[in-house]
Amino acid sequence: MAVRVLSEKLASRIAAGEVIEGPASVVKELVENSLDAGAGRIHVEVSGGGSRSISVSDDGCGIAPDELELAFERFATSKIDESSDLSGIATLGFRGEALPSIAAVARVEATSRTADSDSGAKLVFDNGALISQGPAAAPPGTTMRVTGLFGKLPARRKFMGSVGSELTRIQRLAGQFAIAHPSVAFSLSAEGRSRLSSPGDGQSRAAVAAVYGPRVAAAMLEIEDDDEGAFGVSGLTAAPDTARGSRRYITLSVNGRCVENRRLTFAVEQAYHGFLPERRFPVTALYIRAPLDDVDVNVHPAKLEVRLLRENLVFGEVQRAVRSALSEFSPVRRLHVPQWGGRPGQAPAPAPAGRGFGATALWPAPPTDGDPLNAPADNPDAAEGHAGPDGVQTAPSYRSTLPVLRVIGQAHETYILAEGPDGLYLIDQHAAHERVIYEEIKERFESSAMEAQPLLEPESIELDSDAAEVVETRSEELARAGFVIEPFGESSVLLRAVPPLLASKSASEGPGATLSAILDEVAEGRSGDAWMDRLLYTMACHASVRAGKTLNIEESRELVRRLEGAKQPHTCPHGRPTMVHLNAGTLEYQFGRR
Ligand code: ADP
Ligand code: MG
Repeated sequence: MAVRVLSEKLASRIAAGEVIEGPASVVKELVENSLDAGAGRIHVEVSGGGSRSISVSDDGCGIAPDELELAFERFATSKIDESSDLSGIATLGFRGEALPSIAAVARVEATSRTADSDSGAKLVFDNGALISQGPAAAPPGTTMRVTGLFGKLPARRKFMGSVGSELTRIQRLAGQFAIAHPSVAFSLSAEGRSRLSSPGDGQSRAAVAAVYGPRVAAAMLEIEDDDEGAFGVSGLTAAPDTARGSRRYITLSVNGRCVENRRLTFAVEQAYHGFLPERRFPVTALYIRAPLDDVDVNVHPAKLEVRLLRENLVFGEVQRAVRSALSEFSPVRRLHVPQWGGRPGQAPAPAPAGRGFGATALWPAPPTDGDPLNAPADNPDAAEGHAGPDGVQTAPSYRSTLPVLRVIGQAHETYILAEGPDGLYLIDQHAAHERVIYEEIKERFESSAMEAQPLLEPESIELDSDAAEVVETRSEELARAGFVIEPFGESSVLLRAVPPLLASKSASEGPGATLSAILDEVAEGRSGDAWMDRLLYTMACHASVRAGKTLNIEESRELVRRLEGAKQPHTCPHGRPTMVHLNAGTLEYQFGRR
């Protein structure tokens, strides 16, 4: 093919691919424009997950009729000019790329009126071509209606997610905007049904309630900005008992811009270290105040990420702010996160077969009491580092079946101590129970659908959008697992029956709370055949005894007996070890008997 210059129209479509990835990015750009226009109310309406239509209306400053066409020109913006300094941008947009990019790949109807003019104007673009333009009746503000996104670009359309997944993305985005801008009343409706509506009363708790439900919002702890210094952190963060199964519920905004920043998210997680079990994350809404010229917004095409020039300082501020809110909240039971040698929050690796356990490796130094932040850093090599002298490391203690064990008692309300023919065993009661229950329900599940045990009183449960999506898309699997769930109002369901093992007293929380927690944990990574398995082991986890529960000798024996019968007794379904083994030879060595 001969070398030639691409037509301008084609070039603009290619560039559009960078800013406009799908319906959610259209919503993001349009809502940011509305926010920049000083809107107090923003309404988003979508159909077909945004692929059929997206409309964003605001009551902002509007666009003057003679500027409307110009606004759709590439690099046309009212937000910066030649004299502006790119290092001090206070608006969300500034590149003048969004409107032309959207107009190049969809049909766009723009209707706008400024407060001081008595009539508005409307223009229509269709896949890059101006179709019509003229005066129009309109209230002050702007409405952008986008239809047939990527209609003429089938290759791009193919990459759009399902209606449900695009809608979930849009809903998540709208929720983040609502939280980041509590003074703006946001509403979202899909197929004419309201999905979100925040009051815009300036209260972050009210905004969080609109997104995650009033119960979650009411239980959140307040973080106050001391208004001193160049940086400040304020917001809300959940008490440790409202933890979720993913980081998605940590919303960060820097100077009013929702941002993704892994380090700052990690700062929040770190603040919860010792307060939350592994793989549990808080619900958090943080407002970070930073000097404008400390924030570089010009690093990401969709402006999702920002660079903070003094990131370490902000990291420390965030961690301290969240931490002190948590510490003031008194009735907290501090969990000691086990030091399995992984990073906090990371799934620990099962101990590899063939790795010898020296005596001290079995009992690594406990985390220091007091502030768990000061506990020794997790170090994957720590176990080896503490191991006894060369040559005394014992043979791998993992066998495929368990020897017969004699239960001696329980330690720390967490471990069962048992004796076997070849040494001592410390069995993690929760991990062991999880393994036992998981194998039992898996077997039952594979032979038939599980029973459903009706609740005496059906329980209504509020669902957030992710949980609602799981209920919608996995209704069959949930029913086969024994959950009887019915739609009940806008964002709730009625739980009528649960699998018997979750109805019994041994379940650690009520059936409704258990289902919410399970939905939350299985919402991540939705696809794949492994989903059902994941549902089963999440159910097993919630039906198992927790660490911290006293077991009498009979209960301990019963658990060990069931573990002896398990097919894979050495790890819990998540891959954590169920036990550590203190080899008899190691004991003899330690006591100088050998
Ligand atoms: P940018 O936001 O980077 O300036 P856009 O292409 O998104 O670029 O928008 C171009 C211009 O159109 C904006 O600078 C603004 O002047 C005007 N504009 C777009 N949307 C709105 C709106 N909802 N209200 C008022 N003005 C708007
Ligand atoms: Mg913009």
